[in-house]
Amino acid sequence: MRIARFRAGDTIAFGVLDEAEDGSGIELVELAGDPVATGYETTGRRLRLAEVRLLAPVIPRSKIVGIGKNYLDHVAEMKDVTGGGGAEAPTEPLLFLKPNTSVIGPDDDIVLPGIAERVEHEGELAVVIGRTAKNLPAERAMEAVFGFTCANDVSARDLQVRDGQWARAKGFDTFCPLGPWIETELDLSDARVETRVNGELRQSGSTAQLIHSIPQIIAHVSQAFTLLPGDVILTGTPAGVGPLVAGDTVEVAVEGIGALRNPVV
Ligand code: MG
Repeated sequence: MRIARFRAGDTIAFGVLDEAEDGSGIELVELAGDPVATGYETTGRRLRLAEVRLLAPVIPRSKIVGIGKNYLDHVAEMKDVTGGGGAEAPTEPLLFLKPNTSVIGPDDDIVLPGIAERVEHEGELAVVIGRTAKNLPAERAMEAVFGFTCANDVSARDLQVRDGQWARAKGFDTFCPLGPWIETELDLSDARVETRVNGELRQSGSTAQLIHSIPQIIAHVSQAFTLLPGDVILTGTPAGVGPLVAGDTVEVAVEGIGALRNPVV
């Protein structure tokens, strides 16, 4: 099931994507509330997907947890950026946080900060948490998952290196595009994660290449932080990260979910 958050006129609501009964395209079945909190009661209203503005499918009230260096080929390329210190794959998932003010939705602008000289895309699979969880074992970690979406862990690489920690470099407003919707069922064994800039393929990986699996990541994060409904975990980026400049359009596509597109200004 695919769940979007959208604006139609003055209304902001959630909806379930559904084929129109007359076969004329995709519609949204409007939900009465936030499905993470209140389930799937509908209002009975149906809207054409093409006639609404999609928003970020979730605004975390609590946190976005990022996982650094979780694809081996990306660990290798980061060796050049960080001067050799990043050459080894971490033995346990490396965590960082992004503020919820960094979240934007599909087609929203990624705004390049004037103080950053090199801003890069990191296309990633994002996990949306559906229930409160603490100290989960990996075997039960998927019980906490509501669904999955596409994310761009936009990063000011020069500031990441200069600061030595990542809060500012990854935390600017607009640096966490999410969307276009949440897919509640996803085969995690070999889902392609691809990033294109102006239509050109820049990153192409698969969840089969993850150093730490999705359940391992969730279990690990839940040892540190209580996971709350609506929290988002970014699962790491494959090789091929590179610069974004004003005028670019960047697209993150995860197989089985869809594509998240954002202009850069
Ligand atoms: Mg990342």
